[in-house]
Amino acid sequence: MKVLKSACLLFSLFTCLNVISQTDEASLKKIYAQSLTNGKSYDWLNHLSNQIGSRLSGSLGAEKAVAYTKEELGKLGLDKVWLQPVMVPRWVRGAREFAFIETVPGKTNSVNICALGGSVATPALGLKAHVVEVKNFKELESLGREQIAGKIVFYNRPMQADLIETFNAYGGCVDQRYQGAVEASKYGAVGVIVRSMNLRLDDLPHTGSMTYEGVSVENRIPSAAISTNDANLLSTMLQLDNNIKFYFKQSCKQLKDVQSYNVIGEITGSEFPDEYMIVGGHLDSWDLGDGSHDDGAGVVQSMDVLRLLKESGIKPKRSIRVVLFMNKENGLRGGKKYAEEAKQKGENHVFALESDAGGFTPRGFSFDCNNASFNQVLSWQPLFKPYLIHYFEKGRSGADVGPLKTETNVLAGLRPDSQRYFDHHHASNDTFDAINKRELELGAATMTALVYLFDKYGIN
Ligand SMILES: [Zn+2]
Repeated sequence: MKVLKSACLLFSLFTCLNVISQTDEASLKKIYAQSLTNGKSYDWLNHLSNQIGSRLSGSLGAEKAVAYTKEELGKLGLDKVWLQPVMVPRWVRGAREFAFIETVPGKTNSVNICALGGSVATPALGLKAHVVEVKNFKELESLGREQIAGKIVFYNRPMQADLIETFNAYGGCVDQRYQGAVEASKYGAVGVIVRSMNLRLDDLPHTGSMTYEGVSVENRIPSAAISTNDANLLSTMLQLDNNIKFYFKQSCKQLKDVQSYNVIGEITGSEFPDEYMIVGGHLDSWDLGDGSHDDGAGVVQSMDVLRLLKESGIKPKRSIRVVLFMNKENGLRGGKKYAEEAKQKGENHVFALESDAGGFTPRGFSFDCNNASFNQVLSWQPLFKPYLIHYFEKGRSGADVGPLKTETNVLAGLRPDSQRYFDHHHASNDTFDAINKRELELGAATMTALVYLFDKYGIN
């Protein structure tokens, strides 16, 4: 009798589990089908990229993107849509940069550069000086003021090609771009040229943020990125003759902060409206391309998460918000502002997911959370198998959602295939033609599926 009873119990437990997973399987199927047959992400991105274009903080493009995404969210029948004011820095590139290598007076080779975001201009007539090539800050230090003062420092450490996760290769190099001017100015350098953060050889310079932290205004030196082909050219020419000179001219400027906004939409939860789950990307972009991958893709995918939930007939128990953050690229003011207000209002953010790694084929997610929550995620892995989503690792989430971190909540980042991302990242070819519709839609569906599961089962 006892054996029979426990067998019965086991059977009902089994059927119960089976019912749950069958419902989840069906829900995920619906979500993916909706995204692939009735998705909106691609159309939204087409408008954002081709009608609005680049969206650097404080620019007209950024202002238009705020108005457009608010209007589109307004059409989705969400419970609330609003703008959250935030002051943002405004840096402008000015006239197109110009640069050449001079072997002997009058004999020059033009090279492709672009000012780094936040850099000061060169003098109006440009800047010409001898060049010192280094691979890292240690090498810079060992050369010292004697060999650096009055020269242009050329940082030329390439991204490491044998790292499969290209974000790790980026992380291993980006100190040259971000911190390069601070370090070089300690030894009296007059300018900085940085090899573009790009794994392939081409002619496109890649911009990105840099800092002058701790450097007095009069000691700030102009900094630019050079294309990988031209970095190799410059390096070769220096090996042949280290007496060559480099000339560059840029007229960028830091203007006064301006008013901008995060764009937010919400489906209010049916059971736990005070528990917030957010999905987001950043609305601003660099100015050279139109920011289709970085991060137009994340913006439209996040918008579509709320729409896909609705279209799939899912009524979330918790409040689900889409947050389109302003000013990730050169200040992170939007992300900080959102977290600050959430804290002031005592809003409990149990979950936050960011898509900011391009619109390529999704592979999975990385999670910044405790072990209990991570094990919960791992138990859902089989549900994602039909969609070839297999990457579930602990790691970073996203820069904009990072400030929401608590001891118990779950922060996550969508992890698309990263092999082509740095071909486009912060360069003039980050454009809509580099987006594949299905890849973008699979990303939106994958995000929606994770939100659905966390909403349904809660946070462990
Ligand atoms: Zn980004």
